[in-house]
Amino acid sequence: MSLPNQPSSGSATVYNYGSINIDHVYRVPHLVRPGETLSSTDYQVVLGGKGANQTIALARAGGQVSHWGQLGRADEWALKTLKDAGADINDVAVLEGSSGHTVIQVDDEGENAIVLFGGTNQSFTPERIDELLAGADSEGWLLLQNECNDIADVIRQALDQGLKVAFNPAPMTPAIRELPLKDLSLLFVNRGEAAALVDIDEQSDADALIEALQTALPGVNIVLTLGSEGAWRINGERNEPLYQPARPVQAVDTTGAGDTFIGYYMAALQAGCDASTCLERATAAAALAVQRPGAATGIPTVDEVETFLQ
Ligand code: ADP
Repeated sequence: MSLPNQPSSGSATVYNYGSINIDHVYRVPHLVRPGETLSSTDYQVVLGGKGANQTIALARAGGQVSHWGQLGRADEWALKTLKDAGADINDVAVLEGSSGHTVIQVDDEGENAIVLFGGTNQSFTPERIDELLAGADSEGWLLLQNECNDIADVIRQALDQGLKVAFNPAPMTPAIRELPLKDLSLLFVNRGEAAALVDIDEQSDADALIEALQTALPGVNIVLTLGSEGAWRINGERNEPLYQPARPVQAVDTTGAGDTFIGYYMAALQAGCDASTCLERATAAAALAVQRPGAATGIPTVDEVETFLQ
């Protein structure tokens, strides 16, 4: 099947209610100790956040995505990165507060320590949520993760409005279990999220994870990603799990692998691909991403994915 670089005309927009984080990455000889002042040997400021990463992946895949986000005025530069990827940023509000951000220390062994401040990702008001949903086409998809506030309300309202909802419960918290997961159109989980969701050992094999997910959420389309062990689509038409092995590549940085996978999967779905093609494209894109450093910076373009797939 040949895929267009752009989704076919009239394809439903994906609205991504997603975080935008500014990552401040400090290279240090060791992680700072209590009371210590430590000089950093390198400093970089990069765009991050699961929401922004998934939007960039969807847009680079040629998908039609509108980012529903918020960031602080001082970080307006980050909008250019989203826009350059091809995302619609008309519904990203620039506010007076501090953006969601992280302070990341990376030491010589590659070990890291992270402080996360939710900032404007956590200050969506009920009025703004109503406004965003009121502007959404009911043919569209809502995509969301767990880095913005009031996701339960956003999911419920979107479902009431007839939108299809795709959810990635990352980071996983106990409150996720209270969400109307059975009404989702699509659920993306990695190993840790799946295990926490169905309350089984994270080291369980794929068969056990799949069976537990099928039992807990019958009828819900689920995509389970297991890193270098590949990915499954569960609860499809014939209830037969579909399997896509990961590409055998030399991974240098797996940060953002799941976000790249989700963005590419959603873009393929939007373009009308069947589940096995969605899995294949998402897997190829994620394999390219893990061979490059960084999260957002490592997300490949659709042309790179096409070349890789040939
Ligand atoms: P997350 O980043 O959310 O933890 P996973 O680790 O499950 O998600 O990775 C998502 C997808 O990225 C996998 O299904 C696979 O296609 C790809 N991937 C992850 N790690 C590797 C790897 N080491 N080699 C090849 N592909 C990988």
